[in-house]
Amino acid sequence: QPEEQRVGYAIVGLGHLSLDEILPALAQCKKSKVTALVSGNREKALKVAKQYGVPEKNIYNYQTYDQLKDNPEVQAIYIVLPNGLHAEYTIRGAKAGKHILCEKPMANTPEECRQMIEACKQANRKLMIAYRIQYEPYHAMIRDSIRQKKFGKVKFIEATNAQYTANPSHWRHVKALAGGGSLPDIGLYCLNTIRYALGEEPTEVMGYQYSTPGDPLFKEVEENVTWQMRFPSGVLANCATAYAAHENRTYKVLAEKGWMSMQPAFAYKGLSMKQSHAEGPVEYNEEPKVAEKNQFALEMDHFSDCIQQDKKPFTPGEEGLQDHIIMEAIYQSAQEGKPVKL
Ligand code: NDP
Repeated sequence: QPEEQRVGYAIVGLGHLSLDEILPALAQCKKSKVTALVSGNREKALKVAKQYGVPEKNIYNYQTYDQLKDNPEVQAIYIVLPNGLHAEYTIRGAKAGKHILCEKPMANTPEECRQMIEACKQANRKLMIAYRIQYEPYHAMIRDSIRQKKFGKVKFIEATNAQYTANPSHWRHVKALAGGGSLPDIGLYCLNTIRYALGEEPTEVMGYQYSTPGDPLFKEVEENVTWQMRFPSGVLANCATAYAAHENRTYKVLAEKGWMSMQPAFAYKGLSMKQSHAEGPVEYNEEPKVAEKNQFALEMDHFSDCIQQDKKPFTPGEEGLQDHIIMEAIYQSAQEGKPVKL
């Protein structure tokens, strides 16, 4: 679409994700453009605005944020703040009359998610959670293979998302800003991707949690979580997430007559897939290739399309709420030492 027809976004919070991924991805968008910036750091915002051609009058801070309502160049707000601020800025943004694209995890608690959904409903604005994996082509291929029973019935899914973090003063280690530790931050990819692939909701979860005693990184939020999920079709899922482990992002689907696996499965780029299909005694191994597309560009353009065509986003607020309900059950299970039914 020509520039003037594209949906104009205000990007809120100029941290790593905004600067390294989202703003550069806009160059590959066909329906989205950046028209405003919201930041607590004016100097940084001025620099970024110059780089991306955002006029100085469209730079806001967290106090002037609500004045976005008077700016017709902004139709959507992309919230890229620490998790604990998502609810407040979604609600204020909806009240300012803007559609909201909010980073994952949606918020800190299911209750906050419900408030966000309600605020957007009241304001008659759209709400989408930025689950980029649900807009990524390899994951769409795996989902289709599962749904079409390409390898027979799926029996078992395994997913791991781990990374190493080392800064205890970062907001990710502060409960009020992060909501939790590895589970809502990166374990969420395992949970959300499996729900997306199966198109089913777990009926029961069992969780385990561990944090190294005395480690300042994990005073407020957890280090590692493993959990299992039981799905109505009989699929069992086994998941793990870790903050103090070397990077590993894997996903494996085991079916009656074959398997599909990805490593890395949840990275921004360089995703890679293998599959194996048995026909009688012969096994075929393949490495399917799909053209790499920028996940953030796909996700933003989907939201822009929903705004322009008045459609409900594929990953609406309810999708984020459901993950938070399940994560709460995983924590509860870990605490009580027994499975929790959903
Ligand atoms: P950063 O810490 O790098 O950036 C967060 C930004 O939020 C800061 O730079 C700051 O921007 C602003 N901010 C406002 N208030 C605060 C505060 N009290 N403490 C810290 N920062 C504040 O985080 P990320 O960019 O890594 O993460 C932002 C969001 O994006 C999170 O919700 C995270 O879960 C999500 N995320 C999603 C990913 C994905 O793949 N979809 C990957 C990485 C993160 P300023 O200086 O401009 O005010």
